[in-house]
Amino acid sequence: MMNLFREQSAVLLGEYRSGIWLATMKWITQGTHDSVSFDWALVLTREEKHGDVLGFFHTHPAGHFVPSQRDHKTMSSWVSCFGKPLLCLIECENNWRAFEHDGNNFTALREVVPFSRRRVVVSR
Ligand SMILES: [Zn+2]
Repeated sequence: MMNLFREQSAVLLGEYRSGIWLATMKWITQGTHDSVSFDWALVLTREEKHGDVLGFFHTHPAGHFVPSQRDHKTMSSWVSCFGKPLLCLIECENNWRAFEHDGNNFTALREVVPFSRRRVVVSR
């Protein structure tokens, strides 16, 4: 079966306060498979300098609204590397879903509101 789906991914930068994430999508890339892999050095340097890496955004093919097993593995690595929970933001069929990964599990977050200029607000 032909798969014409093109995955997009980005790093989420911004601030978190009182159950609300204010994020901007940065370093948007096009990919071809389901993963949350980024340039580790780039993202780590950003976190060391600014401490504002909130997590990652990526798109899923139609019907796949929840994080994959691979997302779980990748997010676990990032969370243990950063020492803080991270956001996993997924766009699927023009719907946005957000999950928080604490190193062990994903927790679904209540609301995702995309704004212009690649900004997104997520709340518990
Ligand atoms: Zn995924």
